[in-house]
Amino acid sequence: MSNDNPYPHLLEPLDLGFTTLRNRLIMGSMHMRLELLDNVIEREAAYYGARARGETGLIVTGGFAPNPFGGMDPQTLTMETEAQAEAQRPVTAAVHAEGGKICLQILHAGRYAGVPETVGASDIPTAINPVTPRALTEDEVEQTVEDFVKTAALAQHAGFDGVEIMGSEGYLITQFCVPRTNNRDDAWGGTFEKRIRFPLEIVRRIRARVGRDFIVMYRLSALDLVEDGLTGAETLHLAREIAAAGADIMSTGIGWHEARIPTIAHMVPRGAWTSFVARLKDAVDIPVVASNRINTPELAEHVLARGDADLIAMARPLLADSDFALKARQARADEINTCIACNQACLDPIFRNGPATCLVNPAAAREIEFQSVPAGSPKRIAVVGAGPAGLSCAVAAAERGHAVTLYDSAREIGGQLNLARAVPGKEEFNETLRYFRRRLETEGVELRLGQRVEADALIADGYDEIVVATGVSPRLLDIDGADHPMVVSYVDVLSGAKTAGQRVVVVGAGGIGFDVAQYLTARHGVGEETVNEFLAAWGVDVAHRNAGGVAKPPAAADTDHAVTMLQRKPARMGRSLGLTTGWVPRTELPRRGVEMITGAAYRLIDDAGLHITVENEERLIAADTIVVCAGQEPDRGLHQALVGKSVRAHLIGGAEEAAELDAMRAIDQGTRLGLAL
Ligand code: NAP
Ligand code: SF4
Repeated sequence: MSNDNPYPHLLEPLDLGFTTLRNRLIMGSMHMRLELLDNVIEREAAYYGARARGETGLIVTGGFAPNPFGGMDPQTLTMETEAQAEAQRPVTAAVHAEGGKICLQILHAGRYAGVPETVGASDIPTAINPVTPRALTEDEVEQTVEDFVKTAALAQHAGFDGVEIMGSEGYLITQFCVPRTNNRDDAWGGTFEKRIRFPLEIVRRIRARVGRDFIVMYRLSALDLVEDGLTGAETLHLAREIAAAGADIMSTGIGWHEARIPTIAHMVPRGAWTSFVARLKDAVDIPVVASNRINTPELAEHVLARGDADLIAMARPLLADSDFALKARQARADEINTCIACNQACLDPIFRNGPATCLVNPAAAREIEFQSVPAGSPKRIAVVGAGPAGLSCAVAAAERGHAVTLYDSAREIGGQLNLARAVPGKEEFNETLRYFRRRLETEGVELRLGQRVEADALIADGYDEIVVATGVSPRLLDIDGADHPMVVSYVDVLSGAKTAGQRVVVVGAGGIGFDVAQYLTARHGVGEETVNEFLAAWGVDVAHRNAGGVAKPPAAADTDHAVTMLQRKPARMGRSLGLTTGWVPRTELPRRGVEMITGAAYRLIDDAGLHITVENEERLIAADTIVVCAGQEPDRGLHQALVGKSVRAHLIGGAEEAAELDAMRAIDQGTRLGLAL
């Protein structure tokens, strides 16, 4: 890697004949639901414009439905009229003004649509939508194809450089292609050739309408990961036909939304799916795009250099950092704010019908709110606590020109993030710490670690503002025997200070209770699981001979600890976990033999273990170790000592409100305060 051109493959322009992309980085489509906020067009122009300014080669918008049946919800933007096309001109203009290029994605959600009346290739329902679809009539199929074509033509009118046709992830086009969702016996179903007629007609007719000099990108499902999906041979056949029908670029997706194999969340090893993309690249003679769990320029470069793909699409990593490509070109990759694949601030809210942003970058899709304006008169600011709230506040304030000193009694920055990164599958938090460490340097924040600072000393130092981000302490159990030596806190276990015995009881089943159970029963240590081990454990048919590429997962291996998880609520365990990620530990932990007991009343702890009452019956849960994961209490001592003194003190993060505190709220709050000081 040379400093002049650190990523030669990633930064190489791509000449499509009629237009040239400045590098191989595509911003993948992400439907941010900005239409739920005010000033939609202004927001979108600022959001996409920032990614173009950050030198992204090609941007793909969130999905526009070709007609109202295809929307993810009733608010989804369609592009059916000239007025709707004209409305998008500020967005295309903002991207072009920054030297970027932008394609409009056309997405018909089919039976995944969140509209009152859904349609599909057939009337086969899905477990992830309570509404049963109505099978499109032959006339309606024809009309839907024409709606795709009209949307593409309107996108051209609006100044877009091209379109992406969404043919992956289980949306309408994929629903036509496979027997799982298409049991028609007319011209659009019955045989493989007839099932794939729908996408082929869409591509052919769009190409005929828009002419040669307009990008037509097709996003193909490289691997369906559902039963009765396409086989590998069928996928390659479809890819060749799509290319022959007139597509310029073959973009790829992995897995349908209803697949029960994780494809993009943090527990998926980086680059897990590129071998499937490589097969497509061998099969077609148009550029092929790899995506899913590629979040660093190093990995993108590696995938391209190995010849697995011609371009890399990143959606979430470009939420996390709009300047990804720019920083890569300038050999500043260590300054990239890396997507940690948590889905907490992006996909989780999207699937709850809310607008998205990013956990590590709360300014994502909020560019017009989070502007960093240089401070008129720089102040001296002390931030106490180097967890996510304190870190984000310190760097935001320092970026504006304030002189910031950041204190923490620990010898390393990160606070609770240091516990999260100890959990196998959550190692991406290391990147967040690397990012903050580097930003503290570049913003010139003075760091004072390993020293507990008192109120009097801060006041004596004469700071203009003091930000207290002192975090939380683990809540203790309040029952007889809670001081038994076998009782430890999750901090003891995740920090490695104490080693759990063979039989472990986890008290409390919030995010941290699940993290501890994962930690104790994981197949591998942090960062140790290889791609092949991951694919095998989840039953992925690596040869892709089976329909959908799914095989039966093997039985889970024995674990070092026999774990029982407990909660007092009678409700299903793990409801507080992320919407799009929580199902993974809820599936994995029972496979690893973890017992989950809800509705438990804790009575006492003695040498035998934890005595509880469940459904009016007394039970002993025999234990060698009891790990308390019962939430947290705020640490507000410092703030209380500052209140009433002649200093402006602010309280943020867990120290302000411990309940349901997560890194998303902490970073958002810290950043907002840092921009306002
Ligand atoms: P939490 O989500 O509030 O869960 C605390 C658990 O302790 C609950 O299961 C609660 O259930 C139990 N509990 C509460 N008070 C108790 C008491 N006095 N005695 C015994 N049990 C008690 O807190 P957390 O697990 O510590 O997580 C802290 C924050 O970090 C949360 O906001 C969480 O969302 C976030 N986090 C998220 C993830 C993630 O994967 N997304 C991972 C880690 C942490 P019962 O009251 O039913 O017993
Ligand atoms: Fe990535 Fe999490 Fe941000 Fe989504 S919220 S873009 S997954 S870091």
